[in-house]
Amino acid sequence: MNANYLDELNDRQREAVSHINGPLMIVAGAGSGKTKVLTTRIAHLMNNGVDAFNILALTFTNKAAREMKERIERILGGHEARNLYIGTFHSVFARLLRTDAPKMGYPNDFTIYDADDAKSVVKTIINELNLDDKHYKPNLVYNRISAAKNSLMSPQEYQHDYYIQQEDQRSGRPMIGKIYDMYAKRCFKNGAMDFDDLLYKFYVLLKSFPEVLSKYQHKFRYIMIDEYQDTNPAQYEIIKLLGAVHENIAVVGDDAQSIYSFRGATIQNILQFEKDYDDVKVVKLEQNYRCTKSILDVANQVIKNNKGQIEKSLWTDNDQGEKIRLVRTSTDNEEGKFVADTIAEQKLRNHYSNREFAILYRTNAQSRAFEESLRRMNIPYRIYGGLSFYQRKEIKDFVAYLRVIINPRDEEALKRIINYPARGIGKTTIDKLTLLSNTHDLTFWEVLSSAGNFGFRSGTLEAIDGFVTMIKSFQSQLEKSNAYDVAVQVGKSTNIVKELFNDKTTEGLARYENVQELLNSIKEFTETPTEDGELLEKTLGAYLQQITLLTDADQGNDEDSDVVKLMTIHAAKGLEFPVVFSVGLEETLFPNSMAINSREELEEERRLFYVAITRAKSKLWITYANSRYRFGNLVQNESSRFIDEIPPQHLDRSYAGGGVRNMGSTPSWGGGNGLFDRSNRKPAPGHKTTTSIGTNPNPGPRPATTVTNHVPTEGFAPDDPVNMEVGMKVEHQKFGFGTITSMDGAPNNRIATVNFPAAGGDKKIMLNYAKLMII
Ligand code: ATP
Ligand code: MG
Repeated sequence: MNANYLDELNDRQREAVSHINGPLMIVAGAGSGKTKVLTTRIAHLMNNGVDAFNILALTFTNKAAREMKERIERILGGHEARNLYIGTFHSVFARLLRTDAPKMGYPNDFTIYDADDAKSVVKTIINELNLDDKHYKPNLVYNRISAAKNSLMSPQEYQHDYYIQQEDQRSGRPMIGKIYDMYAKRCFKNGAMDFDDLLYKFYVLLKSFPEVLSKYQHKFRYIMIDEYQDTNPAQYEIIKLLGAVHENIAVVGDDAQSIYSFRGATIQNILQFEKDYDDVKVVKLEQNYRCTKSILDVANQVIKNNKGQIEKSLWTDNDQGEKIRLVRTSTDNEEGKFVADTIAEQKLRNHYSNREFAILYRTNAQSRAFEESLRRMNIPYRIYGGLSFYQRKEIKDFVAYLRVIINPRDEEALKRIINYPARGIGKTTIDKLTLLSNTHDLTFWEVLSSAGNFGFRSGTLEAIDGFVTMIKSFQSQLEKSNAYDVAVQVGKSTNIVKELFNDKTTEGLARYENVQELLNSIKEFTETPTEDGELLEKTLGAYLQQITLLTDADQGNDEDSDVVKLMTIHAAKGLEFPVVFSVGLEETLFPNSMAINSREELEEERRLFYVAITRAKSKLWITYANSRYRFGNLVQNESSRFIDEIPPQHLDRSYAGGGVRNMGSTPSWGGGNGLFDRSNRKPAPGHKTTTSIGTNPNPGPRPATTVTNHVPTEGFAPDDPVNMEVGMKVEHQKFGFGTITSMDGAPNNRIATVNFPAAGGDKKIMLNYAKLMII
């Protein structure tokens, strides 16, 4: 055991770690060691005789949970940590529900529906109700249902809530409550829970079965929660219930990093904590150990613009570090090239490895330009999130067989495979089967198994019977052999593997490889000794659960590989990297136009930027493009208002790629209309976005027309002052960035009033004299 673990902490951190009994709250800024305190505290508890089985720690990602276990093992030595209950809310509750869900009428082996499955069920119901799915958009309806569950609202409560009903009436969608009700019943009938159910049903379980609640209250004597600011009401209530007996709840969080209000999380949880319990020990950590002074200063200045923050002063003893580089490019492709070139240059100059770089963006769609450029430069990278390996069609189809073997009530999975590969069961038959299932209150599987009673044509009946017999044979095989052998058998008996093998197109080849990769992952799962002790048996059901509950940040958990990491800022929460590129700092993209309808939303976007900045340990680049394609259109963008909030003395500005005057009005990648580049977005054959390293050994020449001036050049070309207009973003040598709010004066002596946030507001600038540059 490493007995010195307490020495590695500062006084406040040590105080928090040593607080063993009673509620504890740590509210502290980014990089101040909150997660480190939680980890050390768990080791400390165990060191003081607390049994690992009695500790529950809830983290944001499975990866964070794994890291915690590793760190604890390092402190304690041995393998006691494997007995801890550490994981995401969803994964821990899913495990507990496997034991107790039958009390609520679910099978032990209930299926977990991912968002695609859930939306597909919603869509089916919308169609059954003869509603227009252009108006009742499945995505929108699903989000409403999700929000209801995260507020612990049952379909009945939803339908009887005056305000909700008003809102749905106003939006012209009064049937959402009905859809929610049918959706809940359908999932139940299918033996399935969606992601939100893993919280909601667990809550219902605790509320409805006092003996179950009592069991867990006594089991989990110590509860710890990381990133508490992002817990939603369902999570909050569950924690309160579980901790009610011992009140040994330790939460750590940072209100400035609350970025999930769109999922129902509320920072009220932090404010409420002190009121919920008597004698809460509150610890504030103020020293940041992660970032350079420059980076931390910038983060502090930016977040100051939010009104609703808990007062904190975060400082660091680290070096001043370099200035933050702000880089403007003409297009998103240039932005991609700039970042890839800079990574190559930094690797050479400063001996960085690939894994030390992270590219963080606001939306997944932005990854494309970086992916292309990195591939061209032969720099290995990995994209976290986006379309995951497990969401690919061929993988979902194959996995659907495995789901049905485990839980034949799973109607979504059954419908995916009943005619895949084609076996003569067409849409009319499927519709008829669905109708029978609805009208006779039988599951889809029950209808299939008793199809002989329902007057199908003999050919159809034969096909259905063949399918049922095949599934049953897989089920009985599973009783005798392991998950991998059954999966291989599925591939053979269904002919899926052979069919894919015979498809010699590049897409077919990629699909074949992906299915092989899936089989490999099942094999690996069944053969690797479990880390989780009693928690995870190596069953097919456990495998399915694991792949369904991967979060964005978990995908590609091969930590050792030396790759550049690309992910959304949401997925980067809690992580740190030596060098960070925070990209796409443009109005409408970041802050995102979908999320700035209110001050609250704008402030959440700003917190997101704060999270991005504070991921960086030593170097930070902030980039933006004057124009980019979004939703199929070339759009011109202003730089983000957040850039204006950075004190100019911290910035080192440059321009990369394309002509200054081009301003992106013509896409600079050339090649005719510029669409060529974009229509050619498919990954290279065999390239798996999230699971393989994206190098292309033969990157090929760059397009001849690509602008080669992608190396940063210092300074902007000054723009002609007469061109200036209200609304434009400008830069002043002394005052920094600002926006023109009005223009006065004679034509030959124009005076602009410019709002400079970093310089305290409006300044009048005489354009004939001042050095103002349009940015
Ligand atoms: P975030 O808000 O981003 O989640 P955090 O508050 O959880 O950050 P940690 O990730 O725990 O911060 O710590 C940030 C970095 O500082 C880590 O690399 C950690 O090892 C280091 N660190 C924390 N405390 C100390 C300390 N007392 N001495 C040295 N390094 C420390
Ligand atoms: Mg943390």
